[in-house]
Amino acid sequence: MNTIIAKAGVDDDRMYEQAAEILKRGGLVAFPTETVYGLGGDALNPDASHRIYAAKGRPSDNPLIVHIAETSSVYELAETVSDDTKKLMEAFWPGPLTIILNKKEVVPHTTTGGLDTVAIRMPSHPVAMRLIKDSGVYIAAPSANLSGRPSPTTAQHVQQDMDGRIDMIIDGGAVGIGIESTIVDMTGDRPTILRPGYITPEMIRDIVGDVTIDPAITGMNNALRPKAPGMKYTHYAPKGELSIVEGDRLAAAEKIRSLVAEKKAQGYKTAILCDTDNVSLYDDGVCENVYDAGSKKNEITVSAGLYSLLRTCDDIGAQYIYSESFEEGDMGYAIMNRLIKAAGHRIISC
Ligand code: AMP
Ligand code: MG
Repeated sequence: MNTIIAKAGVDDDRMYEQAAEILKRGGLVAFPTETVYGLGGDALNPDASHRIYAAKGRPSDNPLIVHIAETSSVYELAETVSDDTKKLMEAFWPGPLTIILNKKEVVPHTTTGGLDTVAIRMPSHPVAMRLIKDSGVYIAAPSANLSGRPSPTTAQHVQQDMDGRIDMIIDGGAVGIGIESTIVDMTGDRPTILRPGYITPEMIRDIVGDVTIDPAITGMNNALRPKAPGMKYTHYAPKGELSIVEGDRLAAAEKIRSLVAEKKAQGYKTAILCDTDNVSLYDDGVCENVYDAGSKKNEITVSAGLYSLLRTCDDIGAQYIYSESFEEGDMGYAIMNRLIKAAGHRIISC
């Protein structure tokens, strides 16, 4: 398949028309959202969801998020929209919050991975918005990466994974947030966070009062089954062995320097992910491929570049990767959730 690559902002009318045609006939279009790039297909067309699973190499029990452009669409897709749900929609849409609701008949089980619930989000990215509106379809879109690869935050990442596998990629530049949406389940007694993201538990608590976090995602008990089926897979893993080194700033840097020295002596290629303020700590003439992963003081600088750095580590062929911990600030929890998964839970404390 020849994948069309179109840049947003060049010949928009033609581009959206072409993308809309593809979606309406059941094809696949990758597009930017404010979180990561999505791989879109018509959410109400089972053939389109089959194509999404095939293109990603994704297990089909892993449900897709349905993207909408108007609040009224929720009532066509979901049963019983509670007052609390309405408050969340009002507070955070359009934006990086996905809400799980009981699905209506029209939503095929292929889209929901066999579940009777549906995940719905209204993205704020202008390209995503216009694509949904112009195509007139609800767009089911998981992240536009091959299953097991880091989510794409640029059109080039999408191209690396999806060229020849999908109909079209819309290049809208680098995304702003860089990690996937917060998922909140509103089908139970209390709002439950199934995946942490830019919208924090505190922000949700401020709107609806009580909120719980799915105990399976806190990482403490590996035996629990996450309520979001996708959270059980080892996602976002770079090809090299990633370890997180946590502890006091100087002690962690010393540990990383010694681990790098040891691996380099054995002939391995290494890389380091560190805070902007700590780059100079690795200036010892031994450390190589030291990447500034953003500043903990401004966590969006960390989330925005995280997946891209993991891909860079793959590109340079790093065999051992050491990352500082970024457990700080409002989004620290969401960032560490992704980083810990990428590291396969390898954490070195010092
Ligand atoms: P992605 O689109 O790649 O960000 O992945 C979508 C995430 O949403 C996965 O972790 C899914 O398991 C989760 N998800 C989608 N629909 C549902 C649902 N109905 N119930 C629970 N989790 C869902
Ligand atoms: Mg994904």
